[in-house]
Amino acid sequence: MLDAIGYAAPSVKAPLAPFKFQRRDPRDHDVVIDIKYSGICHSDIHQARDEWGGSMFPMVPGHEIAGVVRAVGPKVTKYKVGDHVGVGCFVDSCRTCDYCQKGLQQFCDDGMTPTYNGIERDGKTPTMGGYSDVITVDEGYVLRIPENLPLDAAAPLLCAGITLYSPLRHWNAGPGKKVAILGLGGLGHMGVKLAHAMGAEVTVLSHSMRKQEDAKRMGADHFYATSDAETFTKLAKTFDLIICTVSHDIDWNAYLDLIKVDGAMVLVGVPEKPVPVGAFSMIMGRRSLAGSLIGGIPETQEMLDFCGKHNITPDIEKISADKINEAYERVIKSDVRYRFVIDIATLKQAA
Ligand code: NAP
Ligand code: ZN
Ligand code: ZN
Repeated sequence: MLDAIGYAAPSVKAPLAPFKFQRRDPRDHDVVIDIKYSGICHSDIHQARDEWGGSMFPMVPGHEIAGVVRAVGPKVTKYKVGDHVGVGCFVDSCRTCDYCQKGLQQFCDDGMTPTYNGIERDGKTPTMGGYSDVITVDEGYVLRIPENLPLDAAAPLLCAGITLYSPLRHWNAGPGKKVAILGLGGLGHMGVKLAHAMGAEVTVLSHSMRKQEDAKRMGADHFYATSDAETFTKLAKTFDLIICTVSHDIDWNAYLDLIKVDGAMVLVGVPEKPVPVGAFSMIMGRRSLAGSLIGGIPETQEMLDFCGKHNITPDIEKISADKINEAYERVIKSDVRYRFVIDIATLKQAA
């Protein structure tokens, strides 16, 4: 077994603290990765605080992992020692169902194996995530990070990047399309950069005007505050696509009214309460309300290559491991510009 050090939530809502554990030795198809950077996703906070129920502790969160290959199992063909690689939200799946066969492992019939807060396919070993110095993952669930992308800024692409890339592609964001990104946080700011690179006209809908300059710098064409009632009259029937990254309860019908005929509103954020929607908000414009979950392995690789080609990286604030709890509080207060990334080299001092 391989000794690992990490940062773990020992129990629900308790502050994260240094934690020692072990990773498996590489099997035939495994890649051992020295983790260099790990992004902090709002989903880490939801799960460390058991806001979705069923959380398992101790929990080492982290599913935006970027690192360097330390060792490979004897049958690994895709990666070699020294390669820059990433791991996203899942580390395995059944591999045989229709969705796995199609590369949509996130929808595996048997349930994907989450990178943390889950159980490995042996049915007993808890999975532990990226707030740690090493991880062992089957090569089929490892992504290649383009050499021109710095590893620290590449990390958030593994969740925030793919979570926006996938719906933008699925709902055909591109030239001639008006796309709105609701919420300019970790996910939202990637949505702006990606939609802009795809050639769409991008609008940011933010709860205040504070982030306007940043959004324009990222490629947004327009910026509106949702706290201003006029925004909703001005933008009625404007968008082909709205992607909602907010995890708070909002007036869903008001946003549906901003969509053109045949347009769609896609939820990626996870609000606490069920989403109440009036039938007329959809009927009157043949509108769709949909959801989207990260992306499969082939699409995640496609997204990384797209970011490599267009030089797209998130805006990050690098932190040392002992600042994780503080960073959580700042994410909750929307005080993040625009993704915290843990420098894993600082784990040793913290442990
Ligand atoms: P984040 O960085 O905290 O961003 C969320 C943004 O929501 C904030 O920056 C803020 O943007 C807006 N917001 C915050 N409080 C608000 C309020 N009271 N009312 C309206 N808007 C508010 O979080 P994230 O990491 O991007 O994650 C966002 C959500 O997506 C989380 O629920 C997370 O669990 C979920 N998620 C889903 C998937 C998926 O596959 N579907 C993947 C990853 C994460 P403004 O300041 O611009 O308003
Ligand atoms: Zn995430
Ligand atoms: Zn499957």
